[in-house]
Amino acid sequence: MILKGKKGLITGVANQRSIAWGIAKSCWQQGAELCFSYPSERLKGSVESLIQGEGKSAPLFECDVTKDESIADLFARIEKEVGKIDFLVHAIAFAKREDLDGEFQDTSRDGFATALDISAYSLTALSHHAVAAMNPGGAIVSLSYIGGEKVIPHYNVMGVAKAALECSARYLAHDLGKQGIRVNIVSAGPIRTLAAKGIGDFNKMLSISENRSALHRNVDTAEVGDTAAFLVSDMARGITGELVHVDAGYHCVSFSFAEEQAKAG
Ligand code: NAD
Repeated sequence: MILKGKKGLITGVANQRSIAWGIAKSCWQQGAELCFSYPSERLKGSVESLIQGEGKSAPLFECDVTKDESIADLFARIEKEVGKIDFLVHAIAFAKREDLDGEFQDTSRDGFATALDISAYSLTALSHHAVAAMNPGGAIVSLSYIGGEKVIPHYNVMGVAKAALECSARYLAHDLGKQGIRVNIVSAGPIRTLAAKGIGDFNKMLSISENRSALHRNVDTAEVGDTAAFLVSDMARGITGELVHVDAGYHCVSFSFAEEQAKAG
């Protein structure tokens, strides 16, 4: 029960496959009290029924991260209705479908701005507003993918957004460290979710990652959830500005070596 007595905000639950939902379940298992945000009225019902399905109740707040007033309103309502929180889970990303197929060089100006705004800047905007609503010793965790470190075909502008997100987390860790708030990133292996559906050749990403990872398998949302729960807990009180890979060790294996080994049988 490493999160007993802690209150957290979970963003990014779209359905039962969402990584944010895996994180929410891990946080509940560890004793946390949670509230959730959803981007539009359309998604509210689905988040509500997931929560009820777990036999839980939790406050829900609307927040579209492309709007500063929506973010300010979210934290004002949380302070009023929930009180100070101890952690924030940022599990939000979006890019236009046409920018997640083919080549990165074809990314439009508008597609680039949209992906970077929703998938990277939103961490800074949410963190900025979250500080005032957080208890000392608070923690923030966000989600990335190895496509932010290395070229993964079709991941394209989302890879650029993830690089910006990872770097933002380090700058935020420095700034918010003055208030004792930690900021970390979990870099997850590929998982079949709604957001992943839009990525060209996603099935190939899954099978390559399964074949080449050190553990020779893919990860699930519960594994990502448990790591995120650890990172927002006091067990991780000395960790900030860190990128933790939860990808069955895919990141540590040399691609060319794995390829040669596979060819050799
Ligand atoms: P998902 O589709 O379940 O979650 C994405 C969430 O972003 C949705 O809940 C959606 O409502 C939210 N969102 C989009 N635009 C928004 C806006 N304007 N305001 C507020 N919320 C908005 O997919 P997921 O795979 O669980 O994605 C969660 C995070 O995990 C993302 O950052 C994603 O890039 C990252 N990630 C996913 C994988 C994977 O393979 N699925 C791997 C590594 C990292």
